[in-house]
Amino acid sequence: MTSRPIDLKNARVLISNDDGINAPGLKLLEKIARSLAREVWVVAPETEQSAASHSLTIRRPLRIRRTSGRRRYAVDGTPTDAVLLAVQHVMKDRRPDLVLSGINRGGNLGEDITYSGTVAAAMEGALLGIPAVALSLMINDREVARWATVERWAPEVLQRITAVGWPDNVLINVNFPDVPANAVTGIDVIRQGRRKIGGELARGVDPRGAPYFWIGAGRTADSALPATDLGAVNRGAVSVTPLALERTHAPTLKALKAAFS
Ligand code: MN
Repeated sequence: MTSRPIDLKNARVLISNDDGINAPGLKLLEKIARSLAREVWVVAPETEQSAASHSLTIRRPLRIRRTSGRRRYAVDGTPTDAVLLAVQHVMKDRRPDLVLSGINRGGNLGEDITYSGTVAAAMEGALLGIPAVALSLMINDREVARWATVERWAPEVLQRITAVGWPDNVLINVNFPDVPANAVTGIDVIRQGRRKIGGELARGVDPRGAPYFWIGAGRTADSALPATDLGAVNRGAVSVTPLALERTHAPTLKALKAAFS
């Protein structure tokens, strides 16, 4: 459980995402990473994979396509596939020192992290033993993404967290608030909150007469407790939340152990 600082300036950085190879957030993250690190590689899904979670493609072959630009590849799979192929194939001569995933168009807060392909790409990096960070931008008005806020704040966040480092079984989840860059109230290192997607369920009938359901973006009542990631972005702060891959719940483990002894 040792944390070592990451030498960001000299790092070989792998970038992926779940919005796909052509997403504006990916291009922005590339630009930010190139300004901070020595070498940047991009291996991202060919198409949008939002809410793909940590799924791995095992029933069909995967193809890698070299895209225009240096060290840029698209994989016709999930975010997890992209990171796995990047590390095991594209960058196999020398593994990346850091995996960055994003910038996702939309926040990944509270329970979102269990559905998120953005967080999953970072999880895959962490599982491969590489420090990883997921980065997402809150969008309240779905038409406007405030990329300038990310451009202003992401370098400082990345420089400061890598200067500290974190253990192997941990990844860092960063969310930028939906406010102008100069209205950001600060960087809050804070715990995961709680909210649940799936509250907004549209029903309809398709053109061939069959009924359908469509899961919307609405969440069930955000508790948005102030001391959580949700609370932080709601008050205009950047949230930084370390997430553990080890999910054992210690108090329940103890209680069940006692019951079974
Ligand atoms: Mn996405």
